[in-house]
Amino acid sequence: MRIDVVTIFPEYLEPLNVSLVGKARARGRLDIHLHHLRDWTTDVHRTVDDTPYGGGPGMVMKPEPWGAALDAVLERGAEELAGRGLGEGAVPTLVVPTPSGRPFTQELAQRLAAEPWLAFAPARYEGIDRRVIEEAADRMPVVEASIGDYVLAGGEVAVLVMVEAVARLLPGVLGNAESHRDDSFAAGAMADLLEGPVYTKPAEWRGRAVPEVLLSGNHGLIARWRREQAFRRTLAMRPDLVGRWEKAAFDKHDRKA
Ligand code: SAM
Repeated sequence: MRIDVVTIFPEYLEPLNVSLVGKARARGRLDIHLHHLRDWTTDVHRTVDDTPYGGGPGMVMKPEPWGAALDAVLERGAEELAGRGLGEGAVPTLVVPTPSGRPFTQELAQRLAAEPWLAFAPARYEGIDRRVIEEAADRMPVVEASIGDYVLAGGEVAVLVMVEAVARLLPGVLGNAESHRDDSFAAGAMADLLEGPVYTKPAEWRGRAVPEVLLSGNHGLIARWRREQAFRRTLAMRPDLVGRWEKAAFDKHDRKA
């Protein structure tokens, strides 16, 4: 997967060199290109923001540098992908982090993980001039996404969150391809359930024993126990998810176990 990020703080994205994402890059599973938005400014101060039309506090990111940066990202990325025989005239899906976007969920991460090319446009200040998003949407799919109901100072942290969530779903990135199958929110038997508690050795620690069923070797019983625990935790922590949960599917799965 190719990923382009346009930002005024490329250094904020240093963690993309570390751990799982860093390894995915080193192994060639992820090809990440960081671009400095100020490279597409034309004035001596390299200005990227201006006062908002209609008044009010804060500054708004100017359309000209963003438009030029996205033009260049599209051109360079398409050339490079065509050069590698990965399709003529490809366009990225543009992901715009914003608190006013749709929630960034595991389902959306899965959808984005199926794309060959993503571009991210993290903003600062009060956000990007709306015309940039509208014009981009005439040329490529645009997803405006929020990582939660709070406001950050900028979109770079949201990019780190989204890239990591997407990267771990790419084939060959996690050591064990099965590891995300039972994650909270994963599609399948655990859909709309949070993951329950997990344990490792020793079997007893500070007077606390691991639940006996996990030592039983009975895979059917263990699977059932895990789903029950997942359900309890979902009820306790996220009762809003329970309404989406299909009891019939849960029972059917248990009968098979
Ligand atoms: N005035 C904007 C609003 O209330 O919707 C908030 C702007 S915020 C200070 C600056 C930038 O940080 C946003 O444009 C976005 O790129 C990023 N950002 C802040 N909170 C975010 C969130 N919850 N999810 C995704 N991006 C966020």
